[in-house]
Amino acid sequence: MNNKLFYINGSWVNPNSKLELNVVNPATEEVISQITNGNETDLNLAVQSAKKAFGEWSVTSKNTRIEYLRKLKSIYEKRFDEMSNAIISEMGCPYDFTAGVQTQTGLDHLSDFISQLENFNFEGDLRDKSHNRIVYEPIGVCGLITPWNWPINQIALKVIPALATGCTMILKPSEISPLSALLFAEMVDEAGFPDGVFNLINGDGAGVGTFMSQHKDIDLISFTGSTRAGRLILQNASQTIKRVCLELGGKGGNIVFADAPANAVRDGIRNVMSNSGQSCDAPTRMLVERSIYERSVQEAIDEANKIQVDLPQKKGDHIGPVVSKTQYEKIINLIQLGIKEGATLATGGVEKPSHLQKGYYIKPTIFTNVTNSMQIAKSEIFGPVLSIIPFDTEQEAIDIVNDTEYGLGNYIQTNDLDKARRVAKKLRSGAVYINGNYLEPGAPFGGYRQSGNGREGGKWGLEEFLEVKVIAGWQ
Ligand code: NAD
Repeated sequence: MNNKLFYINGSWVNPNSKLELNVVNPATEEVISQITNGNETDLNLAVQSAKKAFGEWSVTSKNTRIEYLRKLKSIYEKRFDEMSNAIISEMGCPYDFTAGVQTQTGLDHLSDFISQLENFNFEGDLRDKSHNRIVYEPIGVCGLITPWNWPINQIALKVIPALATGCTMILKPSEISPLSALLFAEMVDEAGFPDGVFNLINGDGAGVGTFMSQHKDIDLISFTGSTRAGRLILQNASQTIKRVCLELGGKGGNIVFADAPANAVRDGIRNVMSNSGQSCDAPTRMLVERSIYERSVQEAIDEANKIQVDLPQKKGDHIGPVVSKTQYEKIINLIQLGIKEGATLATGGVEKPSHLQKGYYIKPTIFTNVTNSMQIAKSEIFGPVLSIIPFDTEQEAIDIVNDTEYGLGNYIQTNDLDKARRVAKKLRSGAVYINGNYLEPGAPFGGYRQSGNGREGGKWGLEEFLEVKVIAGWQ
């Protein structure tokens, strides 16, 4: 397939724009592909095709849409390895983590949304013997804008519920990780969805992303990415009053109480460093009760030093490079800032691992003696960097965790379940994870405050793409 084409109205088409963007493999720093940077004319064509397709697609039966999604799922299963290879080359994610987690999430979301759709009632009475009928209807043409860090996970969390609810759409994947998105578009094509239901335009945020946010015929923007871009999208969308669903950054706290399970610190280190620290809900601030602080710091350093940094195509549980030169430089600058701010660099740092001089590799890095007012405790670093902060009381730990502009995922480690539940209710975030427990399929994912306003996954993920209508006098 030619990566410079767009998918519009059921065909691969030549873009109007001739401008090209390089796709770089972060493990080698080599240009591995080029994509076209779409313009307003390209977007208008895609929107027209989605608008035209909406008429028929929006009134298809639930069973018809389930059949299409099942077909897509079987194609995804068949082309699973191709998807893993695309993700490995565009973002440098190591093989085992890619196949076992990154690519797998696409399949998991397909399975879960199919079962959510099977159980979702699009129509019902307000209450027994009511003449008010409640009807859920697809919102219309959707603009879906995704990041590079969990490329297919984010695409699946938007495209699948949009398809499931009868919406039509234009996907603009991250210009940094477009290869998995192009492959996904091939799968949608192979599944035979009607022309115009799904469209893909490549391009950057300042261009296509802005045109999408402003477009009068796009009824919803579902965006995952930085809080910076989220703010711009809200501004640009304001003239058209479209629905804007935002999944933004995070700065998760991980409270390790003195009575935590034995592996809590080590698990916390593995969690924050996985995906090279490039996860929005990574527990990047570890708060440790002072009575176990010294021991925990030693354990944390020991565990971080055990994590290997290596080439993505190798098998194993090592971490790979960070995604780009820009990200690499941003992370290195923040590590330097942490040192300047007076935090103790306990392990890692700005030097590349000695065996990896080419590629955007960063060693697992830990700062200790951090205070929550330091920039490294406030900014979303988005690399393999952890800050450890001591605390004395339960209330102080809660206050530190909540003292952030974000509110996505927070973590609690204690063997006292009453305490864990009490603290969980006081943490201002869309998710709280106790003792290494994770979200089950169908759970909602999203943030409080500047981590966003959306909820993806499960029935909440379907509802984001639906309007609610009430018809009075139904009977
Ligand atoms: P980014 O904001 O730079 O880019 C994300 C997407 O938005 C890309 O497709 C980009 O082209 C586009 N974009 C950029 N500026 C835009 C604009 N002005 N208008 C419209 N679109 C624009 O983010 P990124 O670096 O690709 O991803 C990392 C960020 O994503 C982190 O902050 C991370 O926390 C966040 N994230 C959040 C979640 C979540 O569910 N909350 C999940 C994954 C990633």
